[in-house]
Amino acid sequence: ASVLKKPDIDKQSLKTAQIEFDNNGLPYSSQFDDIYFDYQDGCSQSVQVFIEGNDLDRQWLEYSADKSSPFVIAETGFGTGLNFFLTLKRFESFIASHNPDWTLRFISTEKYPMTADDLNQALQLFPEFDVYRQEFLSQYQLSESKQVLNIRMLDNKVDLQIHLQDATAAFASLEPKSFAHVDAWFLDGFAPKKNPEMWHQGLFMQLARLSKPGTTLATFTVAGIVRRGLEKQGFAVTRKKHQQYKSQTLVASYTGFPKADNINGYKRRTSPNKPQHVTIIGGGLASACAAYSLVKRGIKVNVFCQDKELAQGASANAIGAIYPLLHQQKDEISEFYQAGFNVAKNFYQQLISQGFNYTHGFDGLIEVAYKDALKERLQIFEKKPVWPEELVSVIDAAQVNRLSGMDINQPGLWIPEAGWVSPPELVKAIFTAAGQLGQCKVKYNTKVESIEKMATGRFLLTTNKGQKQIQTLVLCTGADTVNLAIADELPLSIVRGQVSQLQATTASKPLKTVICHKGYLTPTVNELHCIGATFDKKDSDTSTRNADNRYNFETLTRLLGNIGNWQLEDIKDAKARLRCCTPDHLPMVGAMPDIAGHKKAYQHLGKDKNWRFEQSPPVVEGLYVMTGMGARGLCSAPLLAEILACELVNETYPVSAEQLFQLAPNRFIIRDLIRSKAG
Ligand code: SAM
Repeated sequence: ASVLKKPDIDKQSLKTAQIEFDNNGLPYSSQFDDIYFDYQDGCSQSVQVFIEGNDLDRQWLEYSADKSSPFVIAETGFGTGLNFFLTLKRFESFIASHNPDWTLRFISTEKYPMTADDLNQALQLFPEFDVYRQEFLSQYQLSESKQVLNIRMLDNKVDLQIHLQDATAAFASLEPKSFAHVDAWFLDGFAPKKNPEMWHQGLFMQLARLSKPGTTLATFTVAGIVRRGLEKQGFAVTRKKHQQYKSQTLVASYTGFPKADNINGYKRRTSPNKPQHVTIIGGGLASACAAYSLVKRGIKVNVFCQDKELAQGASANAIGAIYPLLHQQKDEISEFYQAGFNVAKNFYQQLISQGFNYTHGFDGLIEVAYKDALKERLQIFEKKPVWPEELVSVIDAAQVNRLSGMDINQPGLWIPEAGWVSPPELVKAIFTAAGQLGQCKVKYNTKVESIEKMATGRFLLTTNKGQKQIQTLVLCTGADTVNLAIADELPLSIVRGQVSQLQATTASKPLKTVICHKGYLTPTVNELHCIGATFDKKDSDTSTRNADNRYNFETLTRLLGNIGNWQLEDIKDAKARLRCCTPDHLPMVGAMPDIAGHKKAYQHLGKDKNWRFEQSPPVVEGLYVMTGMGARGLCSAPLLAEILACELVNETYPVSAEQLFQLAPNRFIIRDLIRSKAG
């Protein structure tokens, strides 16, 4: 992910525009040697380029139902305000006939503002704006101390901000959180040849930062630097022909996917419409987090849980550790888990602060360096630290003993923010929170036996309680995903894991933190520790085995020493569950790929790995998966759920385009096509 560097704010004092008015009263910039608007028909050109180029009539019809947020337009180069007044006029008539309460926010930037007198003179060219002129000019007061002019029009229904500085600096100062995303961009500002200072990659980065998938953009210039710059930041750019003016302009829409070779022609699809209802299959942590993220966005959620209680699958273990998987280098796996961990930890803590309780301990975790190779790894962590010290640090044996409360006598890695939770309690807490936030209904004892795509586009679900038709479906089915024919081409595999519960002893009770070795040991909860876990590929038996308890016990005592003075008989209980894993150890989230469609659409990748497929990837419309979390669901589920929800409602993703591809369910088929395996 690229780090956005804020450009230096131009500290120079306000410079007004150097304007000349010709005999017809038309303004001309002597500084840029360029016109403000077209001499023949400035108004209709502006309408065609910016208003129609952004398809504002369509967007307004679509967006106006949600009165709670304004439509946001942002512009480079306010100039005479022609674009603004044309938009204002059009918006006024739109809301009069469609939605009188709706609002518009227009964020413009102007490095060289016109004086009020010059503006007044320029605006007199357009009698249709006379109704607004006085109200506008009374608020247009330039002064050295004001960097932003806040102007209200149409009884406060239109809020215009003019940032009196360079466009890039102005956009860099905007926080997307505090003012919502930009819905449409007007890229004005003199031609790139005449004004090269404004048209640079830093500007395009800001546009991308403030856009959401589907944000539109229009500009009068088709210059290569603008086209390529926008594409590099994730805008899909097309030329628009204007017969009348024998010229071309650019229109673009933000996809979130830079046209970069390293995502191999893959784009993530944006959902056509935000669904009102979503059905999730599964009753574990993936389902809980997905339900929460969807309900949070106003979607009504139904959950089919095959058991009489939640969290009976891989989320059933009494205690689970939550910590990021950190390698000594920043590779894609550890970057994802670091991001996932931050989101998860915040989310879990936020639940507690809102009163949704579950048993937990966030007192840190120690990865014990129990063998030489791991001790060498500690040295790399120490010499070439790539992770912030607050996240992970190397500790010596004495610190390990002090922080854990036990005599482990080996050095290790200390992850202070990590900890443990009771997954079943956490799952229930998340569902309770989702239920309070919106509509989230869990149907218990409902086992989905088959899923069929019908000709209508809906899914026919055959359950033990009869058939149901569903429009939008999310599979949070963990290891059961491999049994669903509709998903059986996904490269998922099952890995059985048995976790044992070990009686606490006087010696083991002081343990304060989670300890990871080859397996793990958790502090006591209800007089029991959890130790685990086994790892059996392609084994789907969930009955518990004494041999596995012995394996867990012996691994612990061999690698850490018998620090709790336990005996094998101290194992009081165990659970065996199935993890759902992927070949590259990263989970999957997103639309279910149409595999045959992919083979056709992307076949050229076998010949040219940099070939770009410009359309959205073919998917099974309405079907999504969130699975393959292996043993790391506690760390990854909340972030995956956010990604899923962003895909469903077309919001900006919380991860980079590269990370999205690394998590996309179709990544395997695309990689195979590149290696020409699937053709
Ligand atoms: N949108 C304007 C209108 O409707 O009248 C026309 C704008 S005019 C072609 C270009 C404007 O961009 C000028 O007012 C100029 O001062 C402004 N400009 C030039 N460089 C800029 C920059 N780096 N940041 C912000 N505005 C800039």
